[in-house]
Amino acid sequence: MQRSISIFGATGSVGSSTLDLIARSPDEFTVAALTAHSDVVALARIAIAHNARLAVIGDESRYAELKAALSGSGVEAAAGPDALLGAADLDADWTMASIVGCAGLAPTLAAIRHGRTVALANKESLVSAGALMMDAVTASGATLLPVDSEHNAIFQCLASGRIEDVARIILTASGGPFRTATIEEMRAVTPAQAVKHPNWSMGAKISVDSATMMNKGLELIEAYHLFPVGLDRLEIIVHPQSVIHSMVEYRDRSTLAQLGSPDMRVPIAHALAWPQRMASPCEPLNLAKIGRLDFEAPDPVRFPALALARAAIEAGGARPAILNAANEVAVAAFLEGRIGFLEIATIVEEILTRYSPAPPTSIDEIGAVDREAREHAISLLKVARID
Ligand code: NAD
Ligand code: MG
Repeated sequence: MQRSISIFGATGSVGSSTLDLIARSPDEFTVAALTAHSDVVALARIAIAHNARLAVIGDESRYAELKAALSGSGVEAAAGPDALLGAADLDADWTMASIVGCAGLAPTLAAIRHGRTVALANKESLVSAGALMMDAVTASGATLLPVDSEHNAIFQCLASGRIEDVARIILTASGGPFRTATIEEMRAVTPAQAVKHPNWSMGAKISVDSATMMNKGLELIEAYHLFPVGLDRLEIIVHPQSVIHSMVEYRDRSTLAQLGSPDMRVPIAHALAWPQRMASPCEPLNLAKIGRLDFEAPDPVRFPALALARAAIEAGGARPAILNAANEVAVAAFLEGRIGFLEIATIVEEILTRYSPAPPTSIDEIGAVDREAREHAISLLKVARID
């Protein structure tokens, strides 16, 4: 039986990899809704190519353009924030949540509330609203499948034991493009250097997060919510080859790892076929060619984002949402050339210090914290503005 698939954030890196896999098995999947932020041309092209039922553009002002681009194709067009949520009403069997940033929170939650299967790439939503999101999963009976390669690896390793028997979960980190750079070199890096990841091809925001290692900080918080073993059982180790995608150590000291080429289609294929397996076009792992696997402890001095993230989840309440919002603003400012690379973590730390709201108890309150943290970060940028 064919399964219907929706992709939120379909024009991005994860969205494209998902469509690539779906296109290779046309008998197994049909496409329900595809969404994008503002790239009408790309959205219309993939919606027609994959015979989607619905294409939604987030930017409301592009509706006429999308409608024109889809005319005669049979693909329905919609636009605006409500339409992004409405995409979940097609009730697809399987939804890929791959919008970048906290902007993905509401659409991801809408899909979760339908109680079907949601493949989660959008880590920022879980960082900002982890407890509320996991409650929504329980309440709706949805199946949440981790797609982030580390969390997908952990999910696979956890299949061979009980979570009560886990001694440690060890997230691997590539260390990013500046793993061996001096702090002076890091001070001067350009956006072009920061988005050039040594192992993975990804969207701009997550590539910068990998370079600051905030990505691993966000992933620590993501793991905290997905795998309830407690923060003291979550560790990070740098593994530059990105072959081991993460590990689970059980209390008998047996450690399981998931290995694979650094290609997001491996974890996406796992989530698409789960609980079965499907063929993927990814390179088989050639360990003889790789030759060696290295490991080192992360450097807390050059990568302060790791400690900021751990402190934010330790403190709980609004702090993870503030961390995420401030980071989103700082990364965007860095990509626009408005601040230096090392200032990203400085800004996040500063916002965490100056903004201390009451713990949010609803998604609306998370939204308010997110907005206010962004405003604080933007005002700080104006003060620090170099141009
Ligand atoms: P990307 O920038 O390539 O794509 C983002 C997608 O989200 C695009 O389709 C864009 O149109 C849409 N989008 C952006 N802003 C939006 C908004 N305000 N409203 C609605 N839609 C919006 O990003 P990506 O690299 O594919 O990453 C997507 C998510 O997956 C991120 O949360 C990232 O951390 C996570 N992730 C990515 C990778 C990877 O290899 N790229 C790996 C693990 C996790
Ligand atoms: Mg990851």
